[in-house]
Amino acid sequence: MKEFTDFQEKFARNCPDIRILYNEPMAKHTSFRIGGAAEAMAFPKNAEELARLLKVSRLLDRTPAILGAGTNVLAPDEGMAGLVICLKDCLDGMERLDETHIRVMAGVTMTRAAMFAARQGLSGLEFAHGIPGTVGGGVYMNAGAYGGDIGSVLTRAEVMDPEGNVITFSREDMGFSYRHSRLEDTPGIVLAAVFCLTPLDSGDILNRMKELMAKRSASQPLDLPSAGSAFKRPVGGYAAALIDEAGLKGYQVGGAAISRKHAGFAVNLGGATAGDVKELLRQVSDRVYERTGIRLEPEVRIWERS
Ligand SMILES: Cc1cc2nc3c(=O)[nH]c(=O)nc-3n(C[C@H](O)[C@H](O)[C@H](O)COP(=O)(O)OP(=O)(O)OC[C@H]3O[C@@H](n4cnc5c(N)ncnc54)[C@H](O)[C@@H]3O)c2cc1C
Repeated sequence: MKEFTDFQEKFARNCPDIRILYNEPMAKHTSFRIGGAAEAMAFPKNAEELARLLKVSRLLDRTPAILGAGTNVLAPDEGMAGLVICLKDCLDGMERLDETHIRVMAGVTMTRAAMFAARQGLSGLEFAHGIPGTVGGGVYMNAGAYGGDIGSVLTRAEVMDPEGNVITFSREDMGFSYRHSRLEDTPGIVLAAVFCLTPLDSGDILNRMKELMAKRSASQPLDLPSAGSAFKRPVGGYAAALIDEAGLKGYQVGGAAISRKHAGFAVNLGGATAGDVKELLRQVSDRVYERTGIRLEPEVRIWERS
């Protein structure tokens, strides 16, 4: 396609220093280990490279898809047309700003951010220890666990708009709600987040994190590819309990199944396709709805080839 060839030529001219892979399997970059090839996948190392990449990508007729660690994405079997920008190894670094604030770059994993805060004697990110995604992905979907979430501790987010401008959003601007932020409605790439935390003894924070990690290991199928909780928590119940009560633990469609260890997780037993997972989620949601009148909505971001 002409526009893609133009992109490739301009990319080679303007971004020779940015790593790019053509026809790169998404399955290699998602925790579900699912997804066909991305036409192009680029790996900028910093905000300047990202801005240059966004400029060149305007030659394409679709906005680039943004991937963090790929731990909350179901990528399509047909792959992704155009450009996927992978930020997992980009935007690294953390600093303490004052008594109570730390600034964390978006490519840092939530676990590293929680560990950094703990070592600084700052409490509030314990919940994030064990969430395998990046801070950027966590801000995008207001990640949370064990009663905490990003939206409760974030003071501001630095976001790059599609034109490459950097805008600072306050917590209020970010429009956080349960597993949601404004970025789901208005495109923008998180570059960094500032968190307001509470001084506390490091040892106590680390102990709490250990406790939460032990709970995770005991209850979650961490040995199988997944994207975490398959469904959002519905009003009036817990997805895992509703699925379990419907007798759907272990329920399988193709290579995808409801985990026998934790009914809230859809897992890839080997060779699952995105089609298998979507069909599994659809059938499980229907079965729970027929039984309880409660409709389960996917928490995992289901990408379609556009
Ligand atoms: C075993 C397991 C356990 C999990 N436990 C939890 C949990 O307890 N709580 C929880 O909330 N989640 C959990 N998750 C899901 C996941 O780790 C989180 O949602 C995480 O925040 C996703 O981050 P990511 O970098 O992997 O994002 P991706 O999966 O790469 O992307 C998710 C979405 O965020 C967008 N995005 C990513 N980076 C950016 C950025 N810098 N700027 C703008 N948009 C961006 C993407 O476009 C995509 O729409 C779990 C997943 C697994 C596999």
